[in-house]
Amino acid sequence: MRTKRLFDTDAYIKNNTAKVLSCKISEREGFEDLFEVITDSTVFSPEGGGQKCDRGFFDEIKVVDVREFDGEIIHFLETSIEEGKQTEQKIDFELRFRRMQNHNAEHLICGLIHRRFGYDNVGFHLSETFDEEGALLAIEAVMDVDGPVDAEALAEIEKEANRAIAEDVSIYALLPSGEEAKNISYRSKMDIAENLRLVVIEGYDVCACCAPCLKSSAQIQLVKIVDHMPHRGGMRLTLKAGLDAVNDYVLLHNDNKASMKTLSCVRGECSDAVLKMSEKLASAHEENVSLKKQITALFKNGLEKEIEECRSDYVLFFADTLDEIQSRTLINETVGLKEKAIIVLFDKKDDSYRFVAGKNMSADISLKELAAKMREGLNARGGGSEQMIQGSVSAEKESIEKFFDQL
Ligand SMILES: [Zn+2]
Repeated sequence: MRTKRLFDTDAYIKNNTAKVLSCKISEREGFEDLFEVITDSTVFSPEGGGQKCDRGFFDEIKVVDVREFDGEIIHFLETSIEEGKQTEQKIDFELRFRRMQNHNAEHLICGLIHRRFGYDNVGFHLSETFDEEGALLAIEAVMDVDGPVDAEALAEIEKEANRAIAEDVSIYALLPSGEEAKNISYRSKMDIAENLRLVVIEGYDVCACCAPCLKSSAQIQLVKIVDHMPHRGGMRLTLKAGLDAVNDYVLLHNDNKASMKTLSCVRGECSDAVLKMSEKLASAHEENVSLKKQITALFKNGLEKEIEECRSDYVLFFADTLDEIQSRTLINETVGLKEKAIIVLFDKKDDSYRFVAGKNMSADISLKELAAKMREGLNARGGGSEQMIQGSVSAEKESIEKFFDQL
């Protein structure tokens, strides 16, 4: 390993003057047209352990990616840089810091779960969203443990983690030799013998980790388990920590405030108020359905009289305020009475109606033909089968009546 990894022991270094040891055009798949640069020291933490690499620049040159291959840190740059040159490395520290807050919160939660249940962390990644300009919007940590933890225990663990944050205990990295490592008890996803790096949260957790870490638990600020679900026999937890947890709190607070205003309720009672409102809504809906049925029945009386008295094959029936379901019900319940077609015009809006028409099975009438005539003579839209047509017309009642008189 030629490169001194500054972030291993001090994650707060934002700038560094480094010497370019080598620069060549990359031949690796996925990195074509980029330049591979190795330096004597670096502030850039490479991608690994569920976390993306640092973002930043070498002088004015953008660092596109940073990876570790066979223990060597390779920076992928947009343009070449002279070998032997001293270059100013600069990372996006806001992104680094928020990642550390979420990452160390994950260590703390996993450490507490391990201590209480003996479960191991078997998966981790930071999920990040950026705006169109590439500015960081939010980070959350997704982690898996290999055993079940119920909601009550998770709430206790979350409380304990926030107490550990308030205690302001030290966080630091250890780089023990193979011999020294034998005497330390630590959590690890795999057996690491060489280049072991341990992140210690004093009194709470020791975990093998390659990512930059904070210097004290207080800098985690806050941790909230926002989601948990069973996953492959264990649990998948989603955490928000640090500034991301604070931002989330502000978002939820504003949302809650707006809901309280709409629901006319006090803090902490929105869900009760929503429940009451949805019950009211359900009973209003029931009442509405029942009233609509009663209205349909009243219209049915009128339509039956119309069918009886109508001398044309086409019974025209205006039911301005009905909806489609009511109009179809009317037709279905009366079409058997006489060998005629029934056209119900409903949902009147200014000078337009919607319509649905059905015919008696024995009536010698083509509804498809009727639809074609309506399209031509009434500027109607729509169509259907020989048994049922539907659509809309933009015409006044008188014009529609006149059209049907002339059929
Ligand atoms: Zn870690």
